[in-house]
Amino acid sequence: MEVMWIPIQTTAYFLSESRKKGVITMENSLVMNLLVENKKIVGIQTAQGDIFCSTVIVSAGAWRSPLISMWDTGPSIRSKAIQIHFLKNESKHFSLPCFIDEITGLYGRMQNKHTLLVGYPTNDWDIHLDKTQMVDDSHLALTYHIGKSRIPALKETIVENVRRSFDGYTQNFRGRIEKIGDIEGLYLSSGWSGGGVK
Ligand SMILES: Cc1cc2nc3c(=O)[nH]c(=O)nc-3n(C[C@H](O)[C@H](O)[C@H](O)COP(=O)(O)OP(=O)(O)OC[C@H]3O[C@@H](n4cnc5c(N)ncnc54)[C@H](O)[C@@H]3O)c2cc1C
Repeated sequence: MEVMWIPIQTTAYFLSESRKKGVITMENSLVMNLLVENKKIVGIQTAQGDIFCSTVIVSAGAWRSPLISMWDTGPSIRSKAIQIHFLKNESKHFSLPCFIDEITGLYGRMQNKHTLLVGYPTNDWDIHLDKTQMVDDSHLALTYHIGKSRIPALKETIVENVRRSFDGYTQNFRGRIEKIGDIEGLYLSSGWSGGGVK
């Protein structure tokens, strides 16, 4: 059986299922600060007002630093760009499993019968998190070049779309789920290194 996880749809599904079970969710709400008293979490400060609570899990991805840097002494998490390419052949059907090529590092999956999603790890570290990520054409060309050498069917494709964003990476590519510093009730879930959904 082949299983595929699509990040945005997975998040939307978890949110809608948790709401059905009574969880209260707030979207598009900026957390500006954590409220800490006597080394204990007492709440968060949001653009919509303060929310009081005894446990906070910071899962702000590559943006977590401003919230926790003063307490976080764990392994570093650095931002790194991710660029994925949607390669299409209108007249042919693809039939490929999800793959990670251990020889080149190329990875991908079918987006639909005519389009393959193909990526190749970038080497663009410590990027500006608040700037829209512009597509890197040289990385597109490199991915295409490596892709065609591994999957000949890519020679007959055109580039339908390219998406570029980023994730927080740890040195060993393993995510961190742990208590932060000596603050009671403060936890981190971050550093998923490009694979936080599957
Ligand atoms: C183009 C692309 C394709 C990918 N494809 C896959 C895939 O197929 N499979 C897979 O497993 N992984 C994939 N990944 C990686 C995966 O998306 C990440 O590993 C995962 O989303 C990381 O989860 P996270 O919760 O740590 O951070 P994020 O998903 O980055 O979430 C952090 C959230 O916190 C919010 N936030 C930040 N600061 C604040 C604040 N102060 N207040 C309120 N909210 C805040 C942000 O807006 C964001 O919504 C892909 C990544 C990219 C960029």
